[in-house]
Amino acid sequence: MLFDERPKVSRGDLYDRDEELNDILKNINGPMVVVTGIRRIGKTSVINVTLNEADIPYVLIDCRSLRDNYGRSDLYRLISNALSSSLDKLIDVLRRIRGISIMGNAVEIRWRGREQVSLAELFDRLNERRVVVVFDEAQRLRGPLSSEVLNALAHAYDFDRNVTFILSGSEVGLLYEFMGVEDPNSPLFGRYFHEVRIGRFTRDESVDFLRRGFKELGVEVSTDVIETIADVFDGIPGWLVYAANAYIRGVRDLSMIREATIREVLNELERLIRAKASYSTVNARRTALVLRCIASGGNTWSKVVKCVEDSEGKTVSPTSLNNVIKTLERLSIIENYEFLDPMYREAAMR
Ligand code: ADP
Repeated sequence: MLFDERPKVSRGDLYDRDEELNDILKNINGPMVVVTGIRRIGKTSVINVTLNEADIPYVLIDCRSLRDNYGRSDLYRLISNALSSSLDKLIDVLRRIRGISIMGNAVEIRWRGREQVSLAELFDRLNERRVVVVFDEAQRLRGPLSSEVLNALAHAYDFDRNVTFILSGSEVGLLYEFMGVEDPNSPLFGRYFHEVRIGRFTRDESVDFLRRGFKELGVEVSTDVIETIADVFDGIPGWLVYAANAYIRGVRDLSMIREATIREVLNELERLIRAKASYSTVNARRTALVLRCIASGGNTWSKVVKCVEDSEGKTVSPTSLNNVIKTLERLSIIENYEFLDPMYREAAMR
């Protein structure tokens, strides 16, 4: 069903994306594929469908829930849960690993003590059969364990020919920073990976997607409603699905649907700003102001400087302002002084 609100798992439920699916499938036998794109653009859906079609056992590690300074127990719990979900396909391999216990459907990897299983060791053992390991929102792996994770990935990259990694990330700058793409000291530096970018639907695609989705459910909708949804949510499938479902549930006032999405994004934005502004209120306030300046037309460096200085009533240091803008770019909130998601733009104006 096109309007299913969960990430899709089969090609029939996924609108378009044949090119991206085939691109990943073509590279699934290489060591590493990186899937990038803003939140709600469909990365998880594309990866799920690919994995189903490739018919290769996989372990899907969703890093979304990792806290900023996650520890080894957090990471191992996440991987244990992912292994539990793929237990039926990997049980023969997992049973042979000392330090892994299986109780019913639950896998537990020992993360300390004598029987501790290192990540590199885990990948080596998984390598006994063909497997794809997915780290969804892999930029969340940044933190005190970064180098341990990267060393394990680099080790598996070099020695575990049966293991393919898929890393996905919606904060693209942070993902590349984690991987150390430009850092000669990073264990992954210089290793080739294939990147697949997931972009937004064009307006025509959005309209067609909405038409088909409503038709599939037998819901009559005017062209006007379809075009308004397409215009407001600017080709981001997650928002199109959200709006369509709200409409189907009986919310006929599209401005209410828009409001609800803005509220959701405001929470996300506040969390991102607080986390990335080094927990300083001044930085957080400055970041929010820069966002507001860009949202209200500040599409060049000098316009943003003027807007910030007018609001703060004082001269600002170019370095600190530049840092704020760079951070917003690394988070994939803006690019070239434009918002990548129109709902973030709306939220920034509040
Ligand atoms: P991401 O991983 O990029 O955040 P998801 O795969 O979770 O995105 O998709 C967000 C929402 O949009 C989900 O409800 C999903 O079902 C829907 N969706 C994404 N891409 C498509 C698509 N191509 N066709 C239909 N629905 C999609």
